[in-house]
Amino acid sequence: MSSQKLERETRAAACPSYILQHYHSTGCCGGAFSFRAALMDPKKEPYLCTAPREFRETTAADIQLSLDDKRRGGGPRVGSFQEAIPGEGWQALPKYDFTTKSRSSAFNERMHVEWENHVDHILKNDGDLPVASVVAKAGFRSCAPCCRDMLALARPTGKTFIMVDLAENDRRGTFHFVTGDSYLPVPKEACEEQEVARLKDITLRAQSGEFQSSEDIRDAVLAGNFPIDKTAQALYASDPALLPPGVARGLTGRGLLEVLHGEHFARLTAEYGASILRDASSPMAQRQAVLICRARARAALAAAWKPHLKEVDVEAYANAAITPLLPEEPDAYLRTKLAKTLAPSLAAPPPPVASRGTRRRWARRGEGKAGKEAVHDDGVSTAVPEDDDAVSWQDMEDPDEDL
Ligand SMILES: [Zn+2]
Repeated sequence: MSSQKLERETRAAACPSYILQHYHSTGCCGGAFSFRAALMDPKKEPYLCTAPREFRETTAADIQLSLDDKRRGGGPRVGSFQEAIPGEGWQALPKYDFTTKSRSSAFNERMHVEWENHVDHILKNDGDLPVASVVAKAGFRSCAPCCRDMLALARPTGKTFIMVDLAENDRRGTFHFVTGDSYLPVPKEACEEQEVARLKDITLRAQSGEFQSSEDIRDAVLAGNFPIDKTAQALYASDPALLPPGVARGLTGRGLLEVLHGEHFARLTAEYGASILRDASSPMAQRQAVLICRARARAALAAAWKPHLKEVDVEAYANAAITPLLPEEPDAYLRTKLAKTLAPSLAAPPPPVASRGTRRRWARRGEGKAGKEAVHDDGVSTAVPEDDDAVSWQDMEDPDEDL
């Protein structure tokens, strides 16, 4: 039976789509993305880090600090999944801790720590994604770029990503299962206690490598007859920027890391940028910076995929990847938001984006001292990105749960 047919037969969750709500709370004018988006600087080179990430011991007090002060509290904490989060000895990456040099970034923006975790899984697995790359996120829900990234990578590679939102809470937050070409978001809000326990069990087994394939994980979730957020499923599964299933099976090493980074920064500029472009009063300089960052992200994504995909129009694909899922024309967006449901026909067509130069953009970590600029003969910058310590968070409007 096709996965689409299996997904149609799942049970709809009897609760609102918190994922769609979160899409709006982060991507609207003045939403959580808008402050970051206003800082995007096209002069900042995308930076790909291949050093092991510096996971930090994370306690309930750390998570509370993030929640109480989203500007300086360290932001979302993301690490491996365990029965109780944070429990004892939980290690996580705090998003807004810029003291570490072991991180990837672009346009002033750190790669979201979910994806730093996934990169870490690849590095520890000899350059390949494990069957399931699993992360637990404390205090926060997954943002639109992170959800889009999961589907964008899982579909062509056939691998699985599992993201657990509000992992410290058994009553709220979502288990996102992206297994190859299937997306099953299970909201804890619609689950019985026993169902949450079974979801944890599947997630732990997937993380420990117990399943042989993405299909096995998908079948385990389907067998549980869990409630599914059908709105979120439709939103992310109808992303026009999804490659055909399985076209990048076997992609590993540097090539895999390059497409992972390309996907992340493309979808980040799409959704972050939309919060600026949906605001009719945003300054022209910010709007132009968004468009330039998107154009650069599009070129980097197309360049990353091109050597691996002979049958795919990677330019058109990359163009769709830098376009937000919901409209960014202010009136059309407002109508979609007020409808509180999906109207795919309102989705904006990809905007024309000026083409940029073809200079290679993915920096390689050099042998030089961290933080010191060095340019190799091929023009690749090895500069570690500047810290964002100078960034002020004071104007950032907080949604209920962030990023
Ligand atoms: Zn994110």
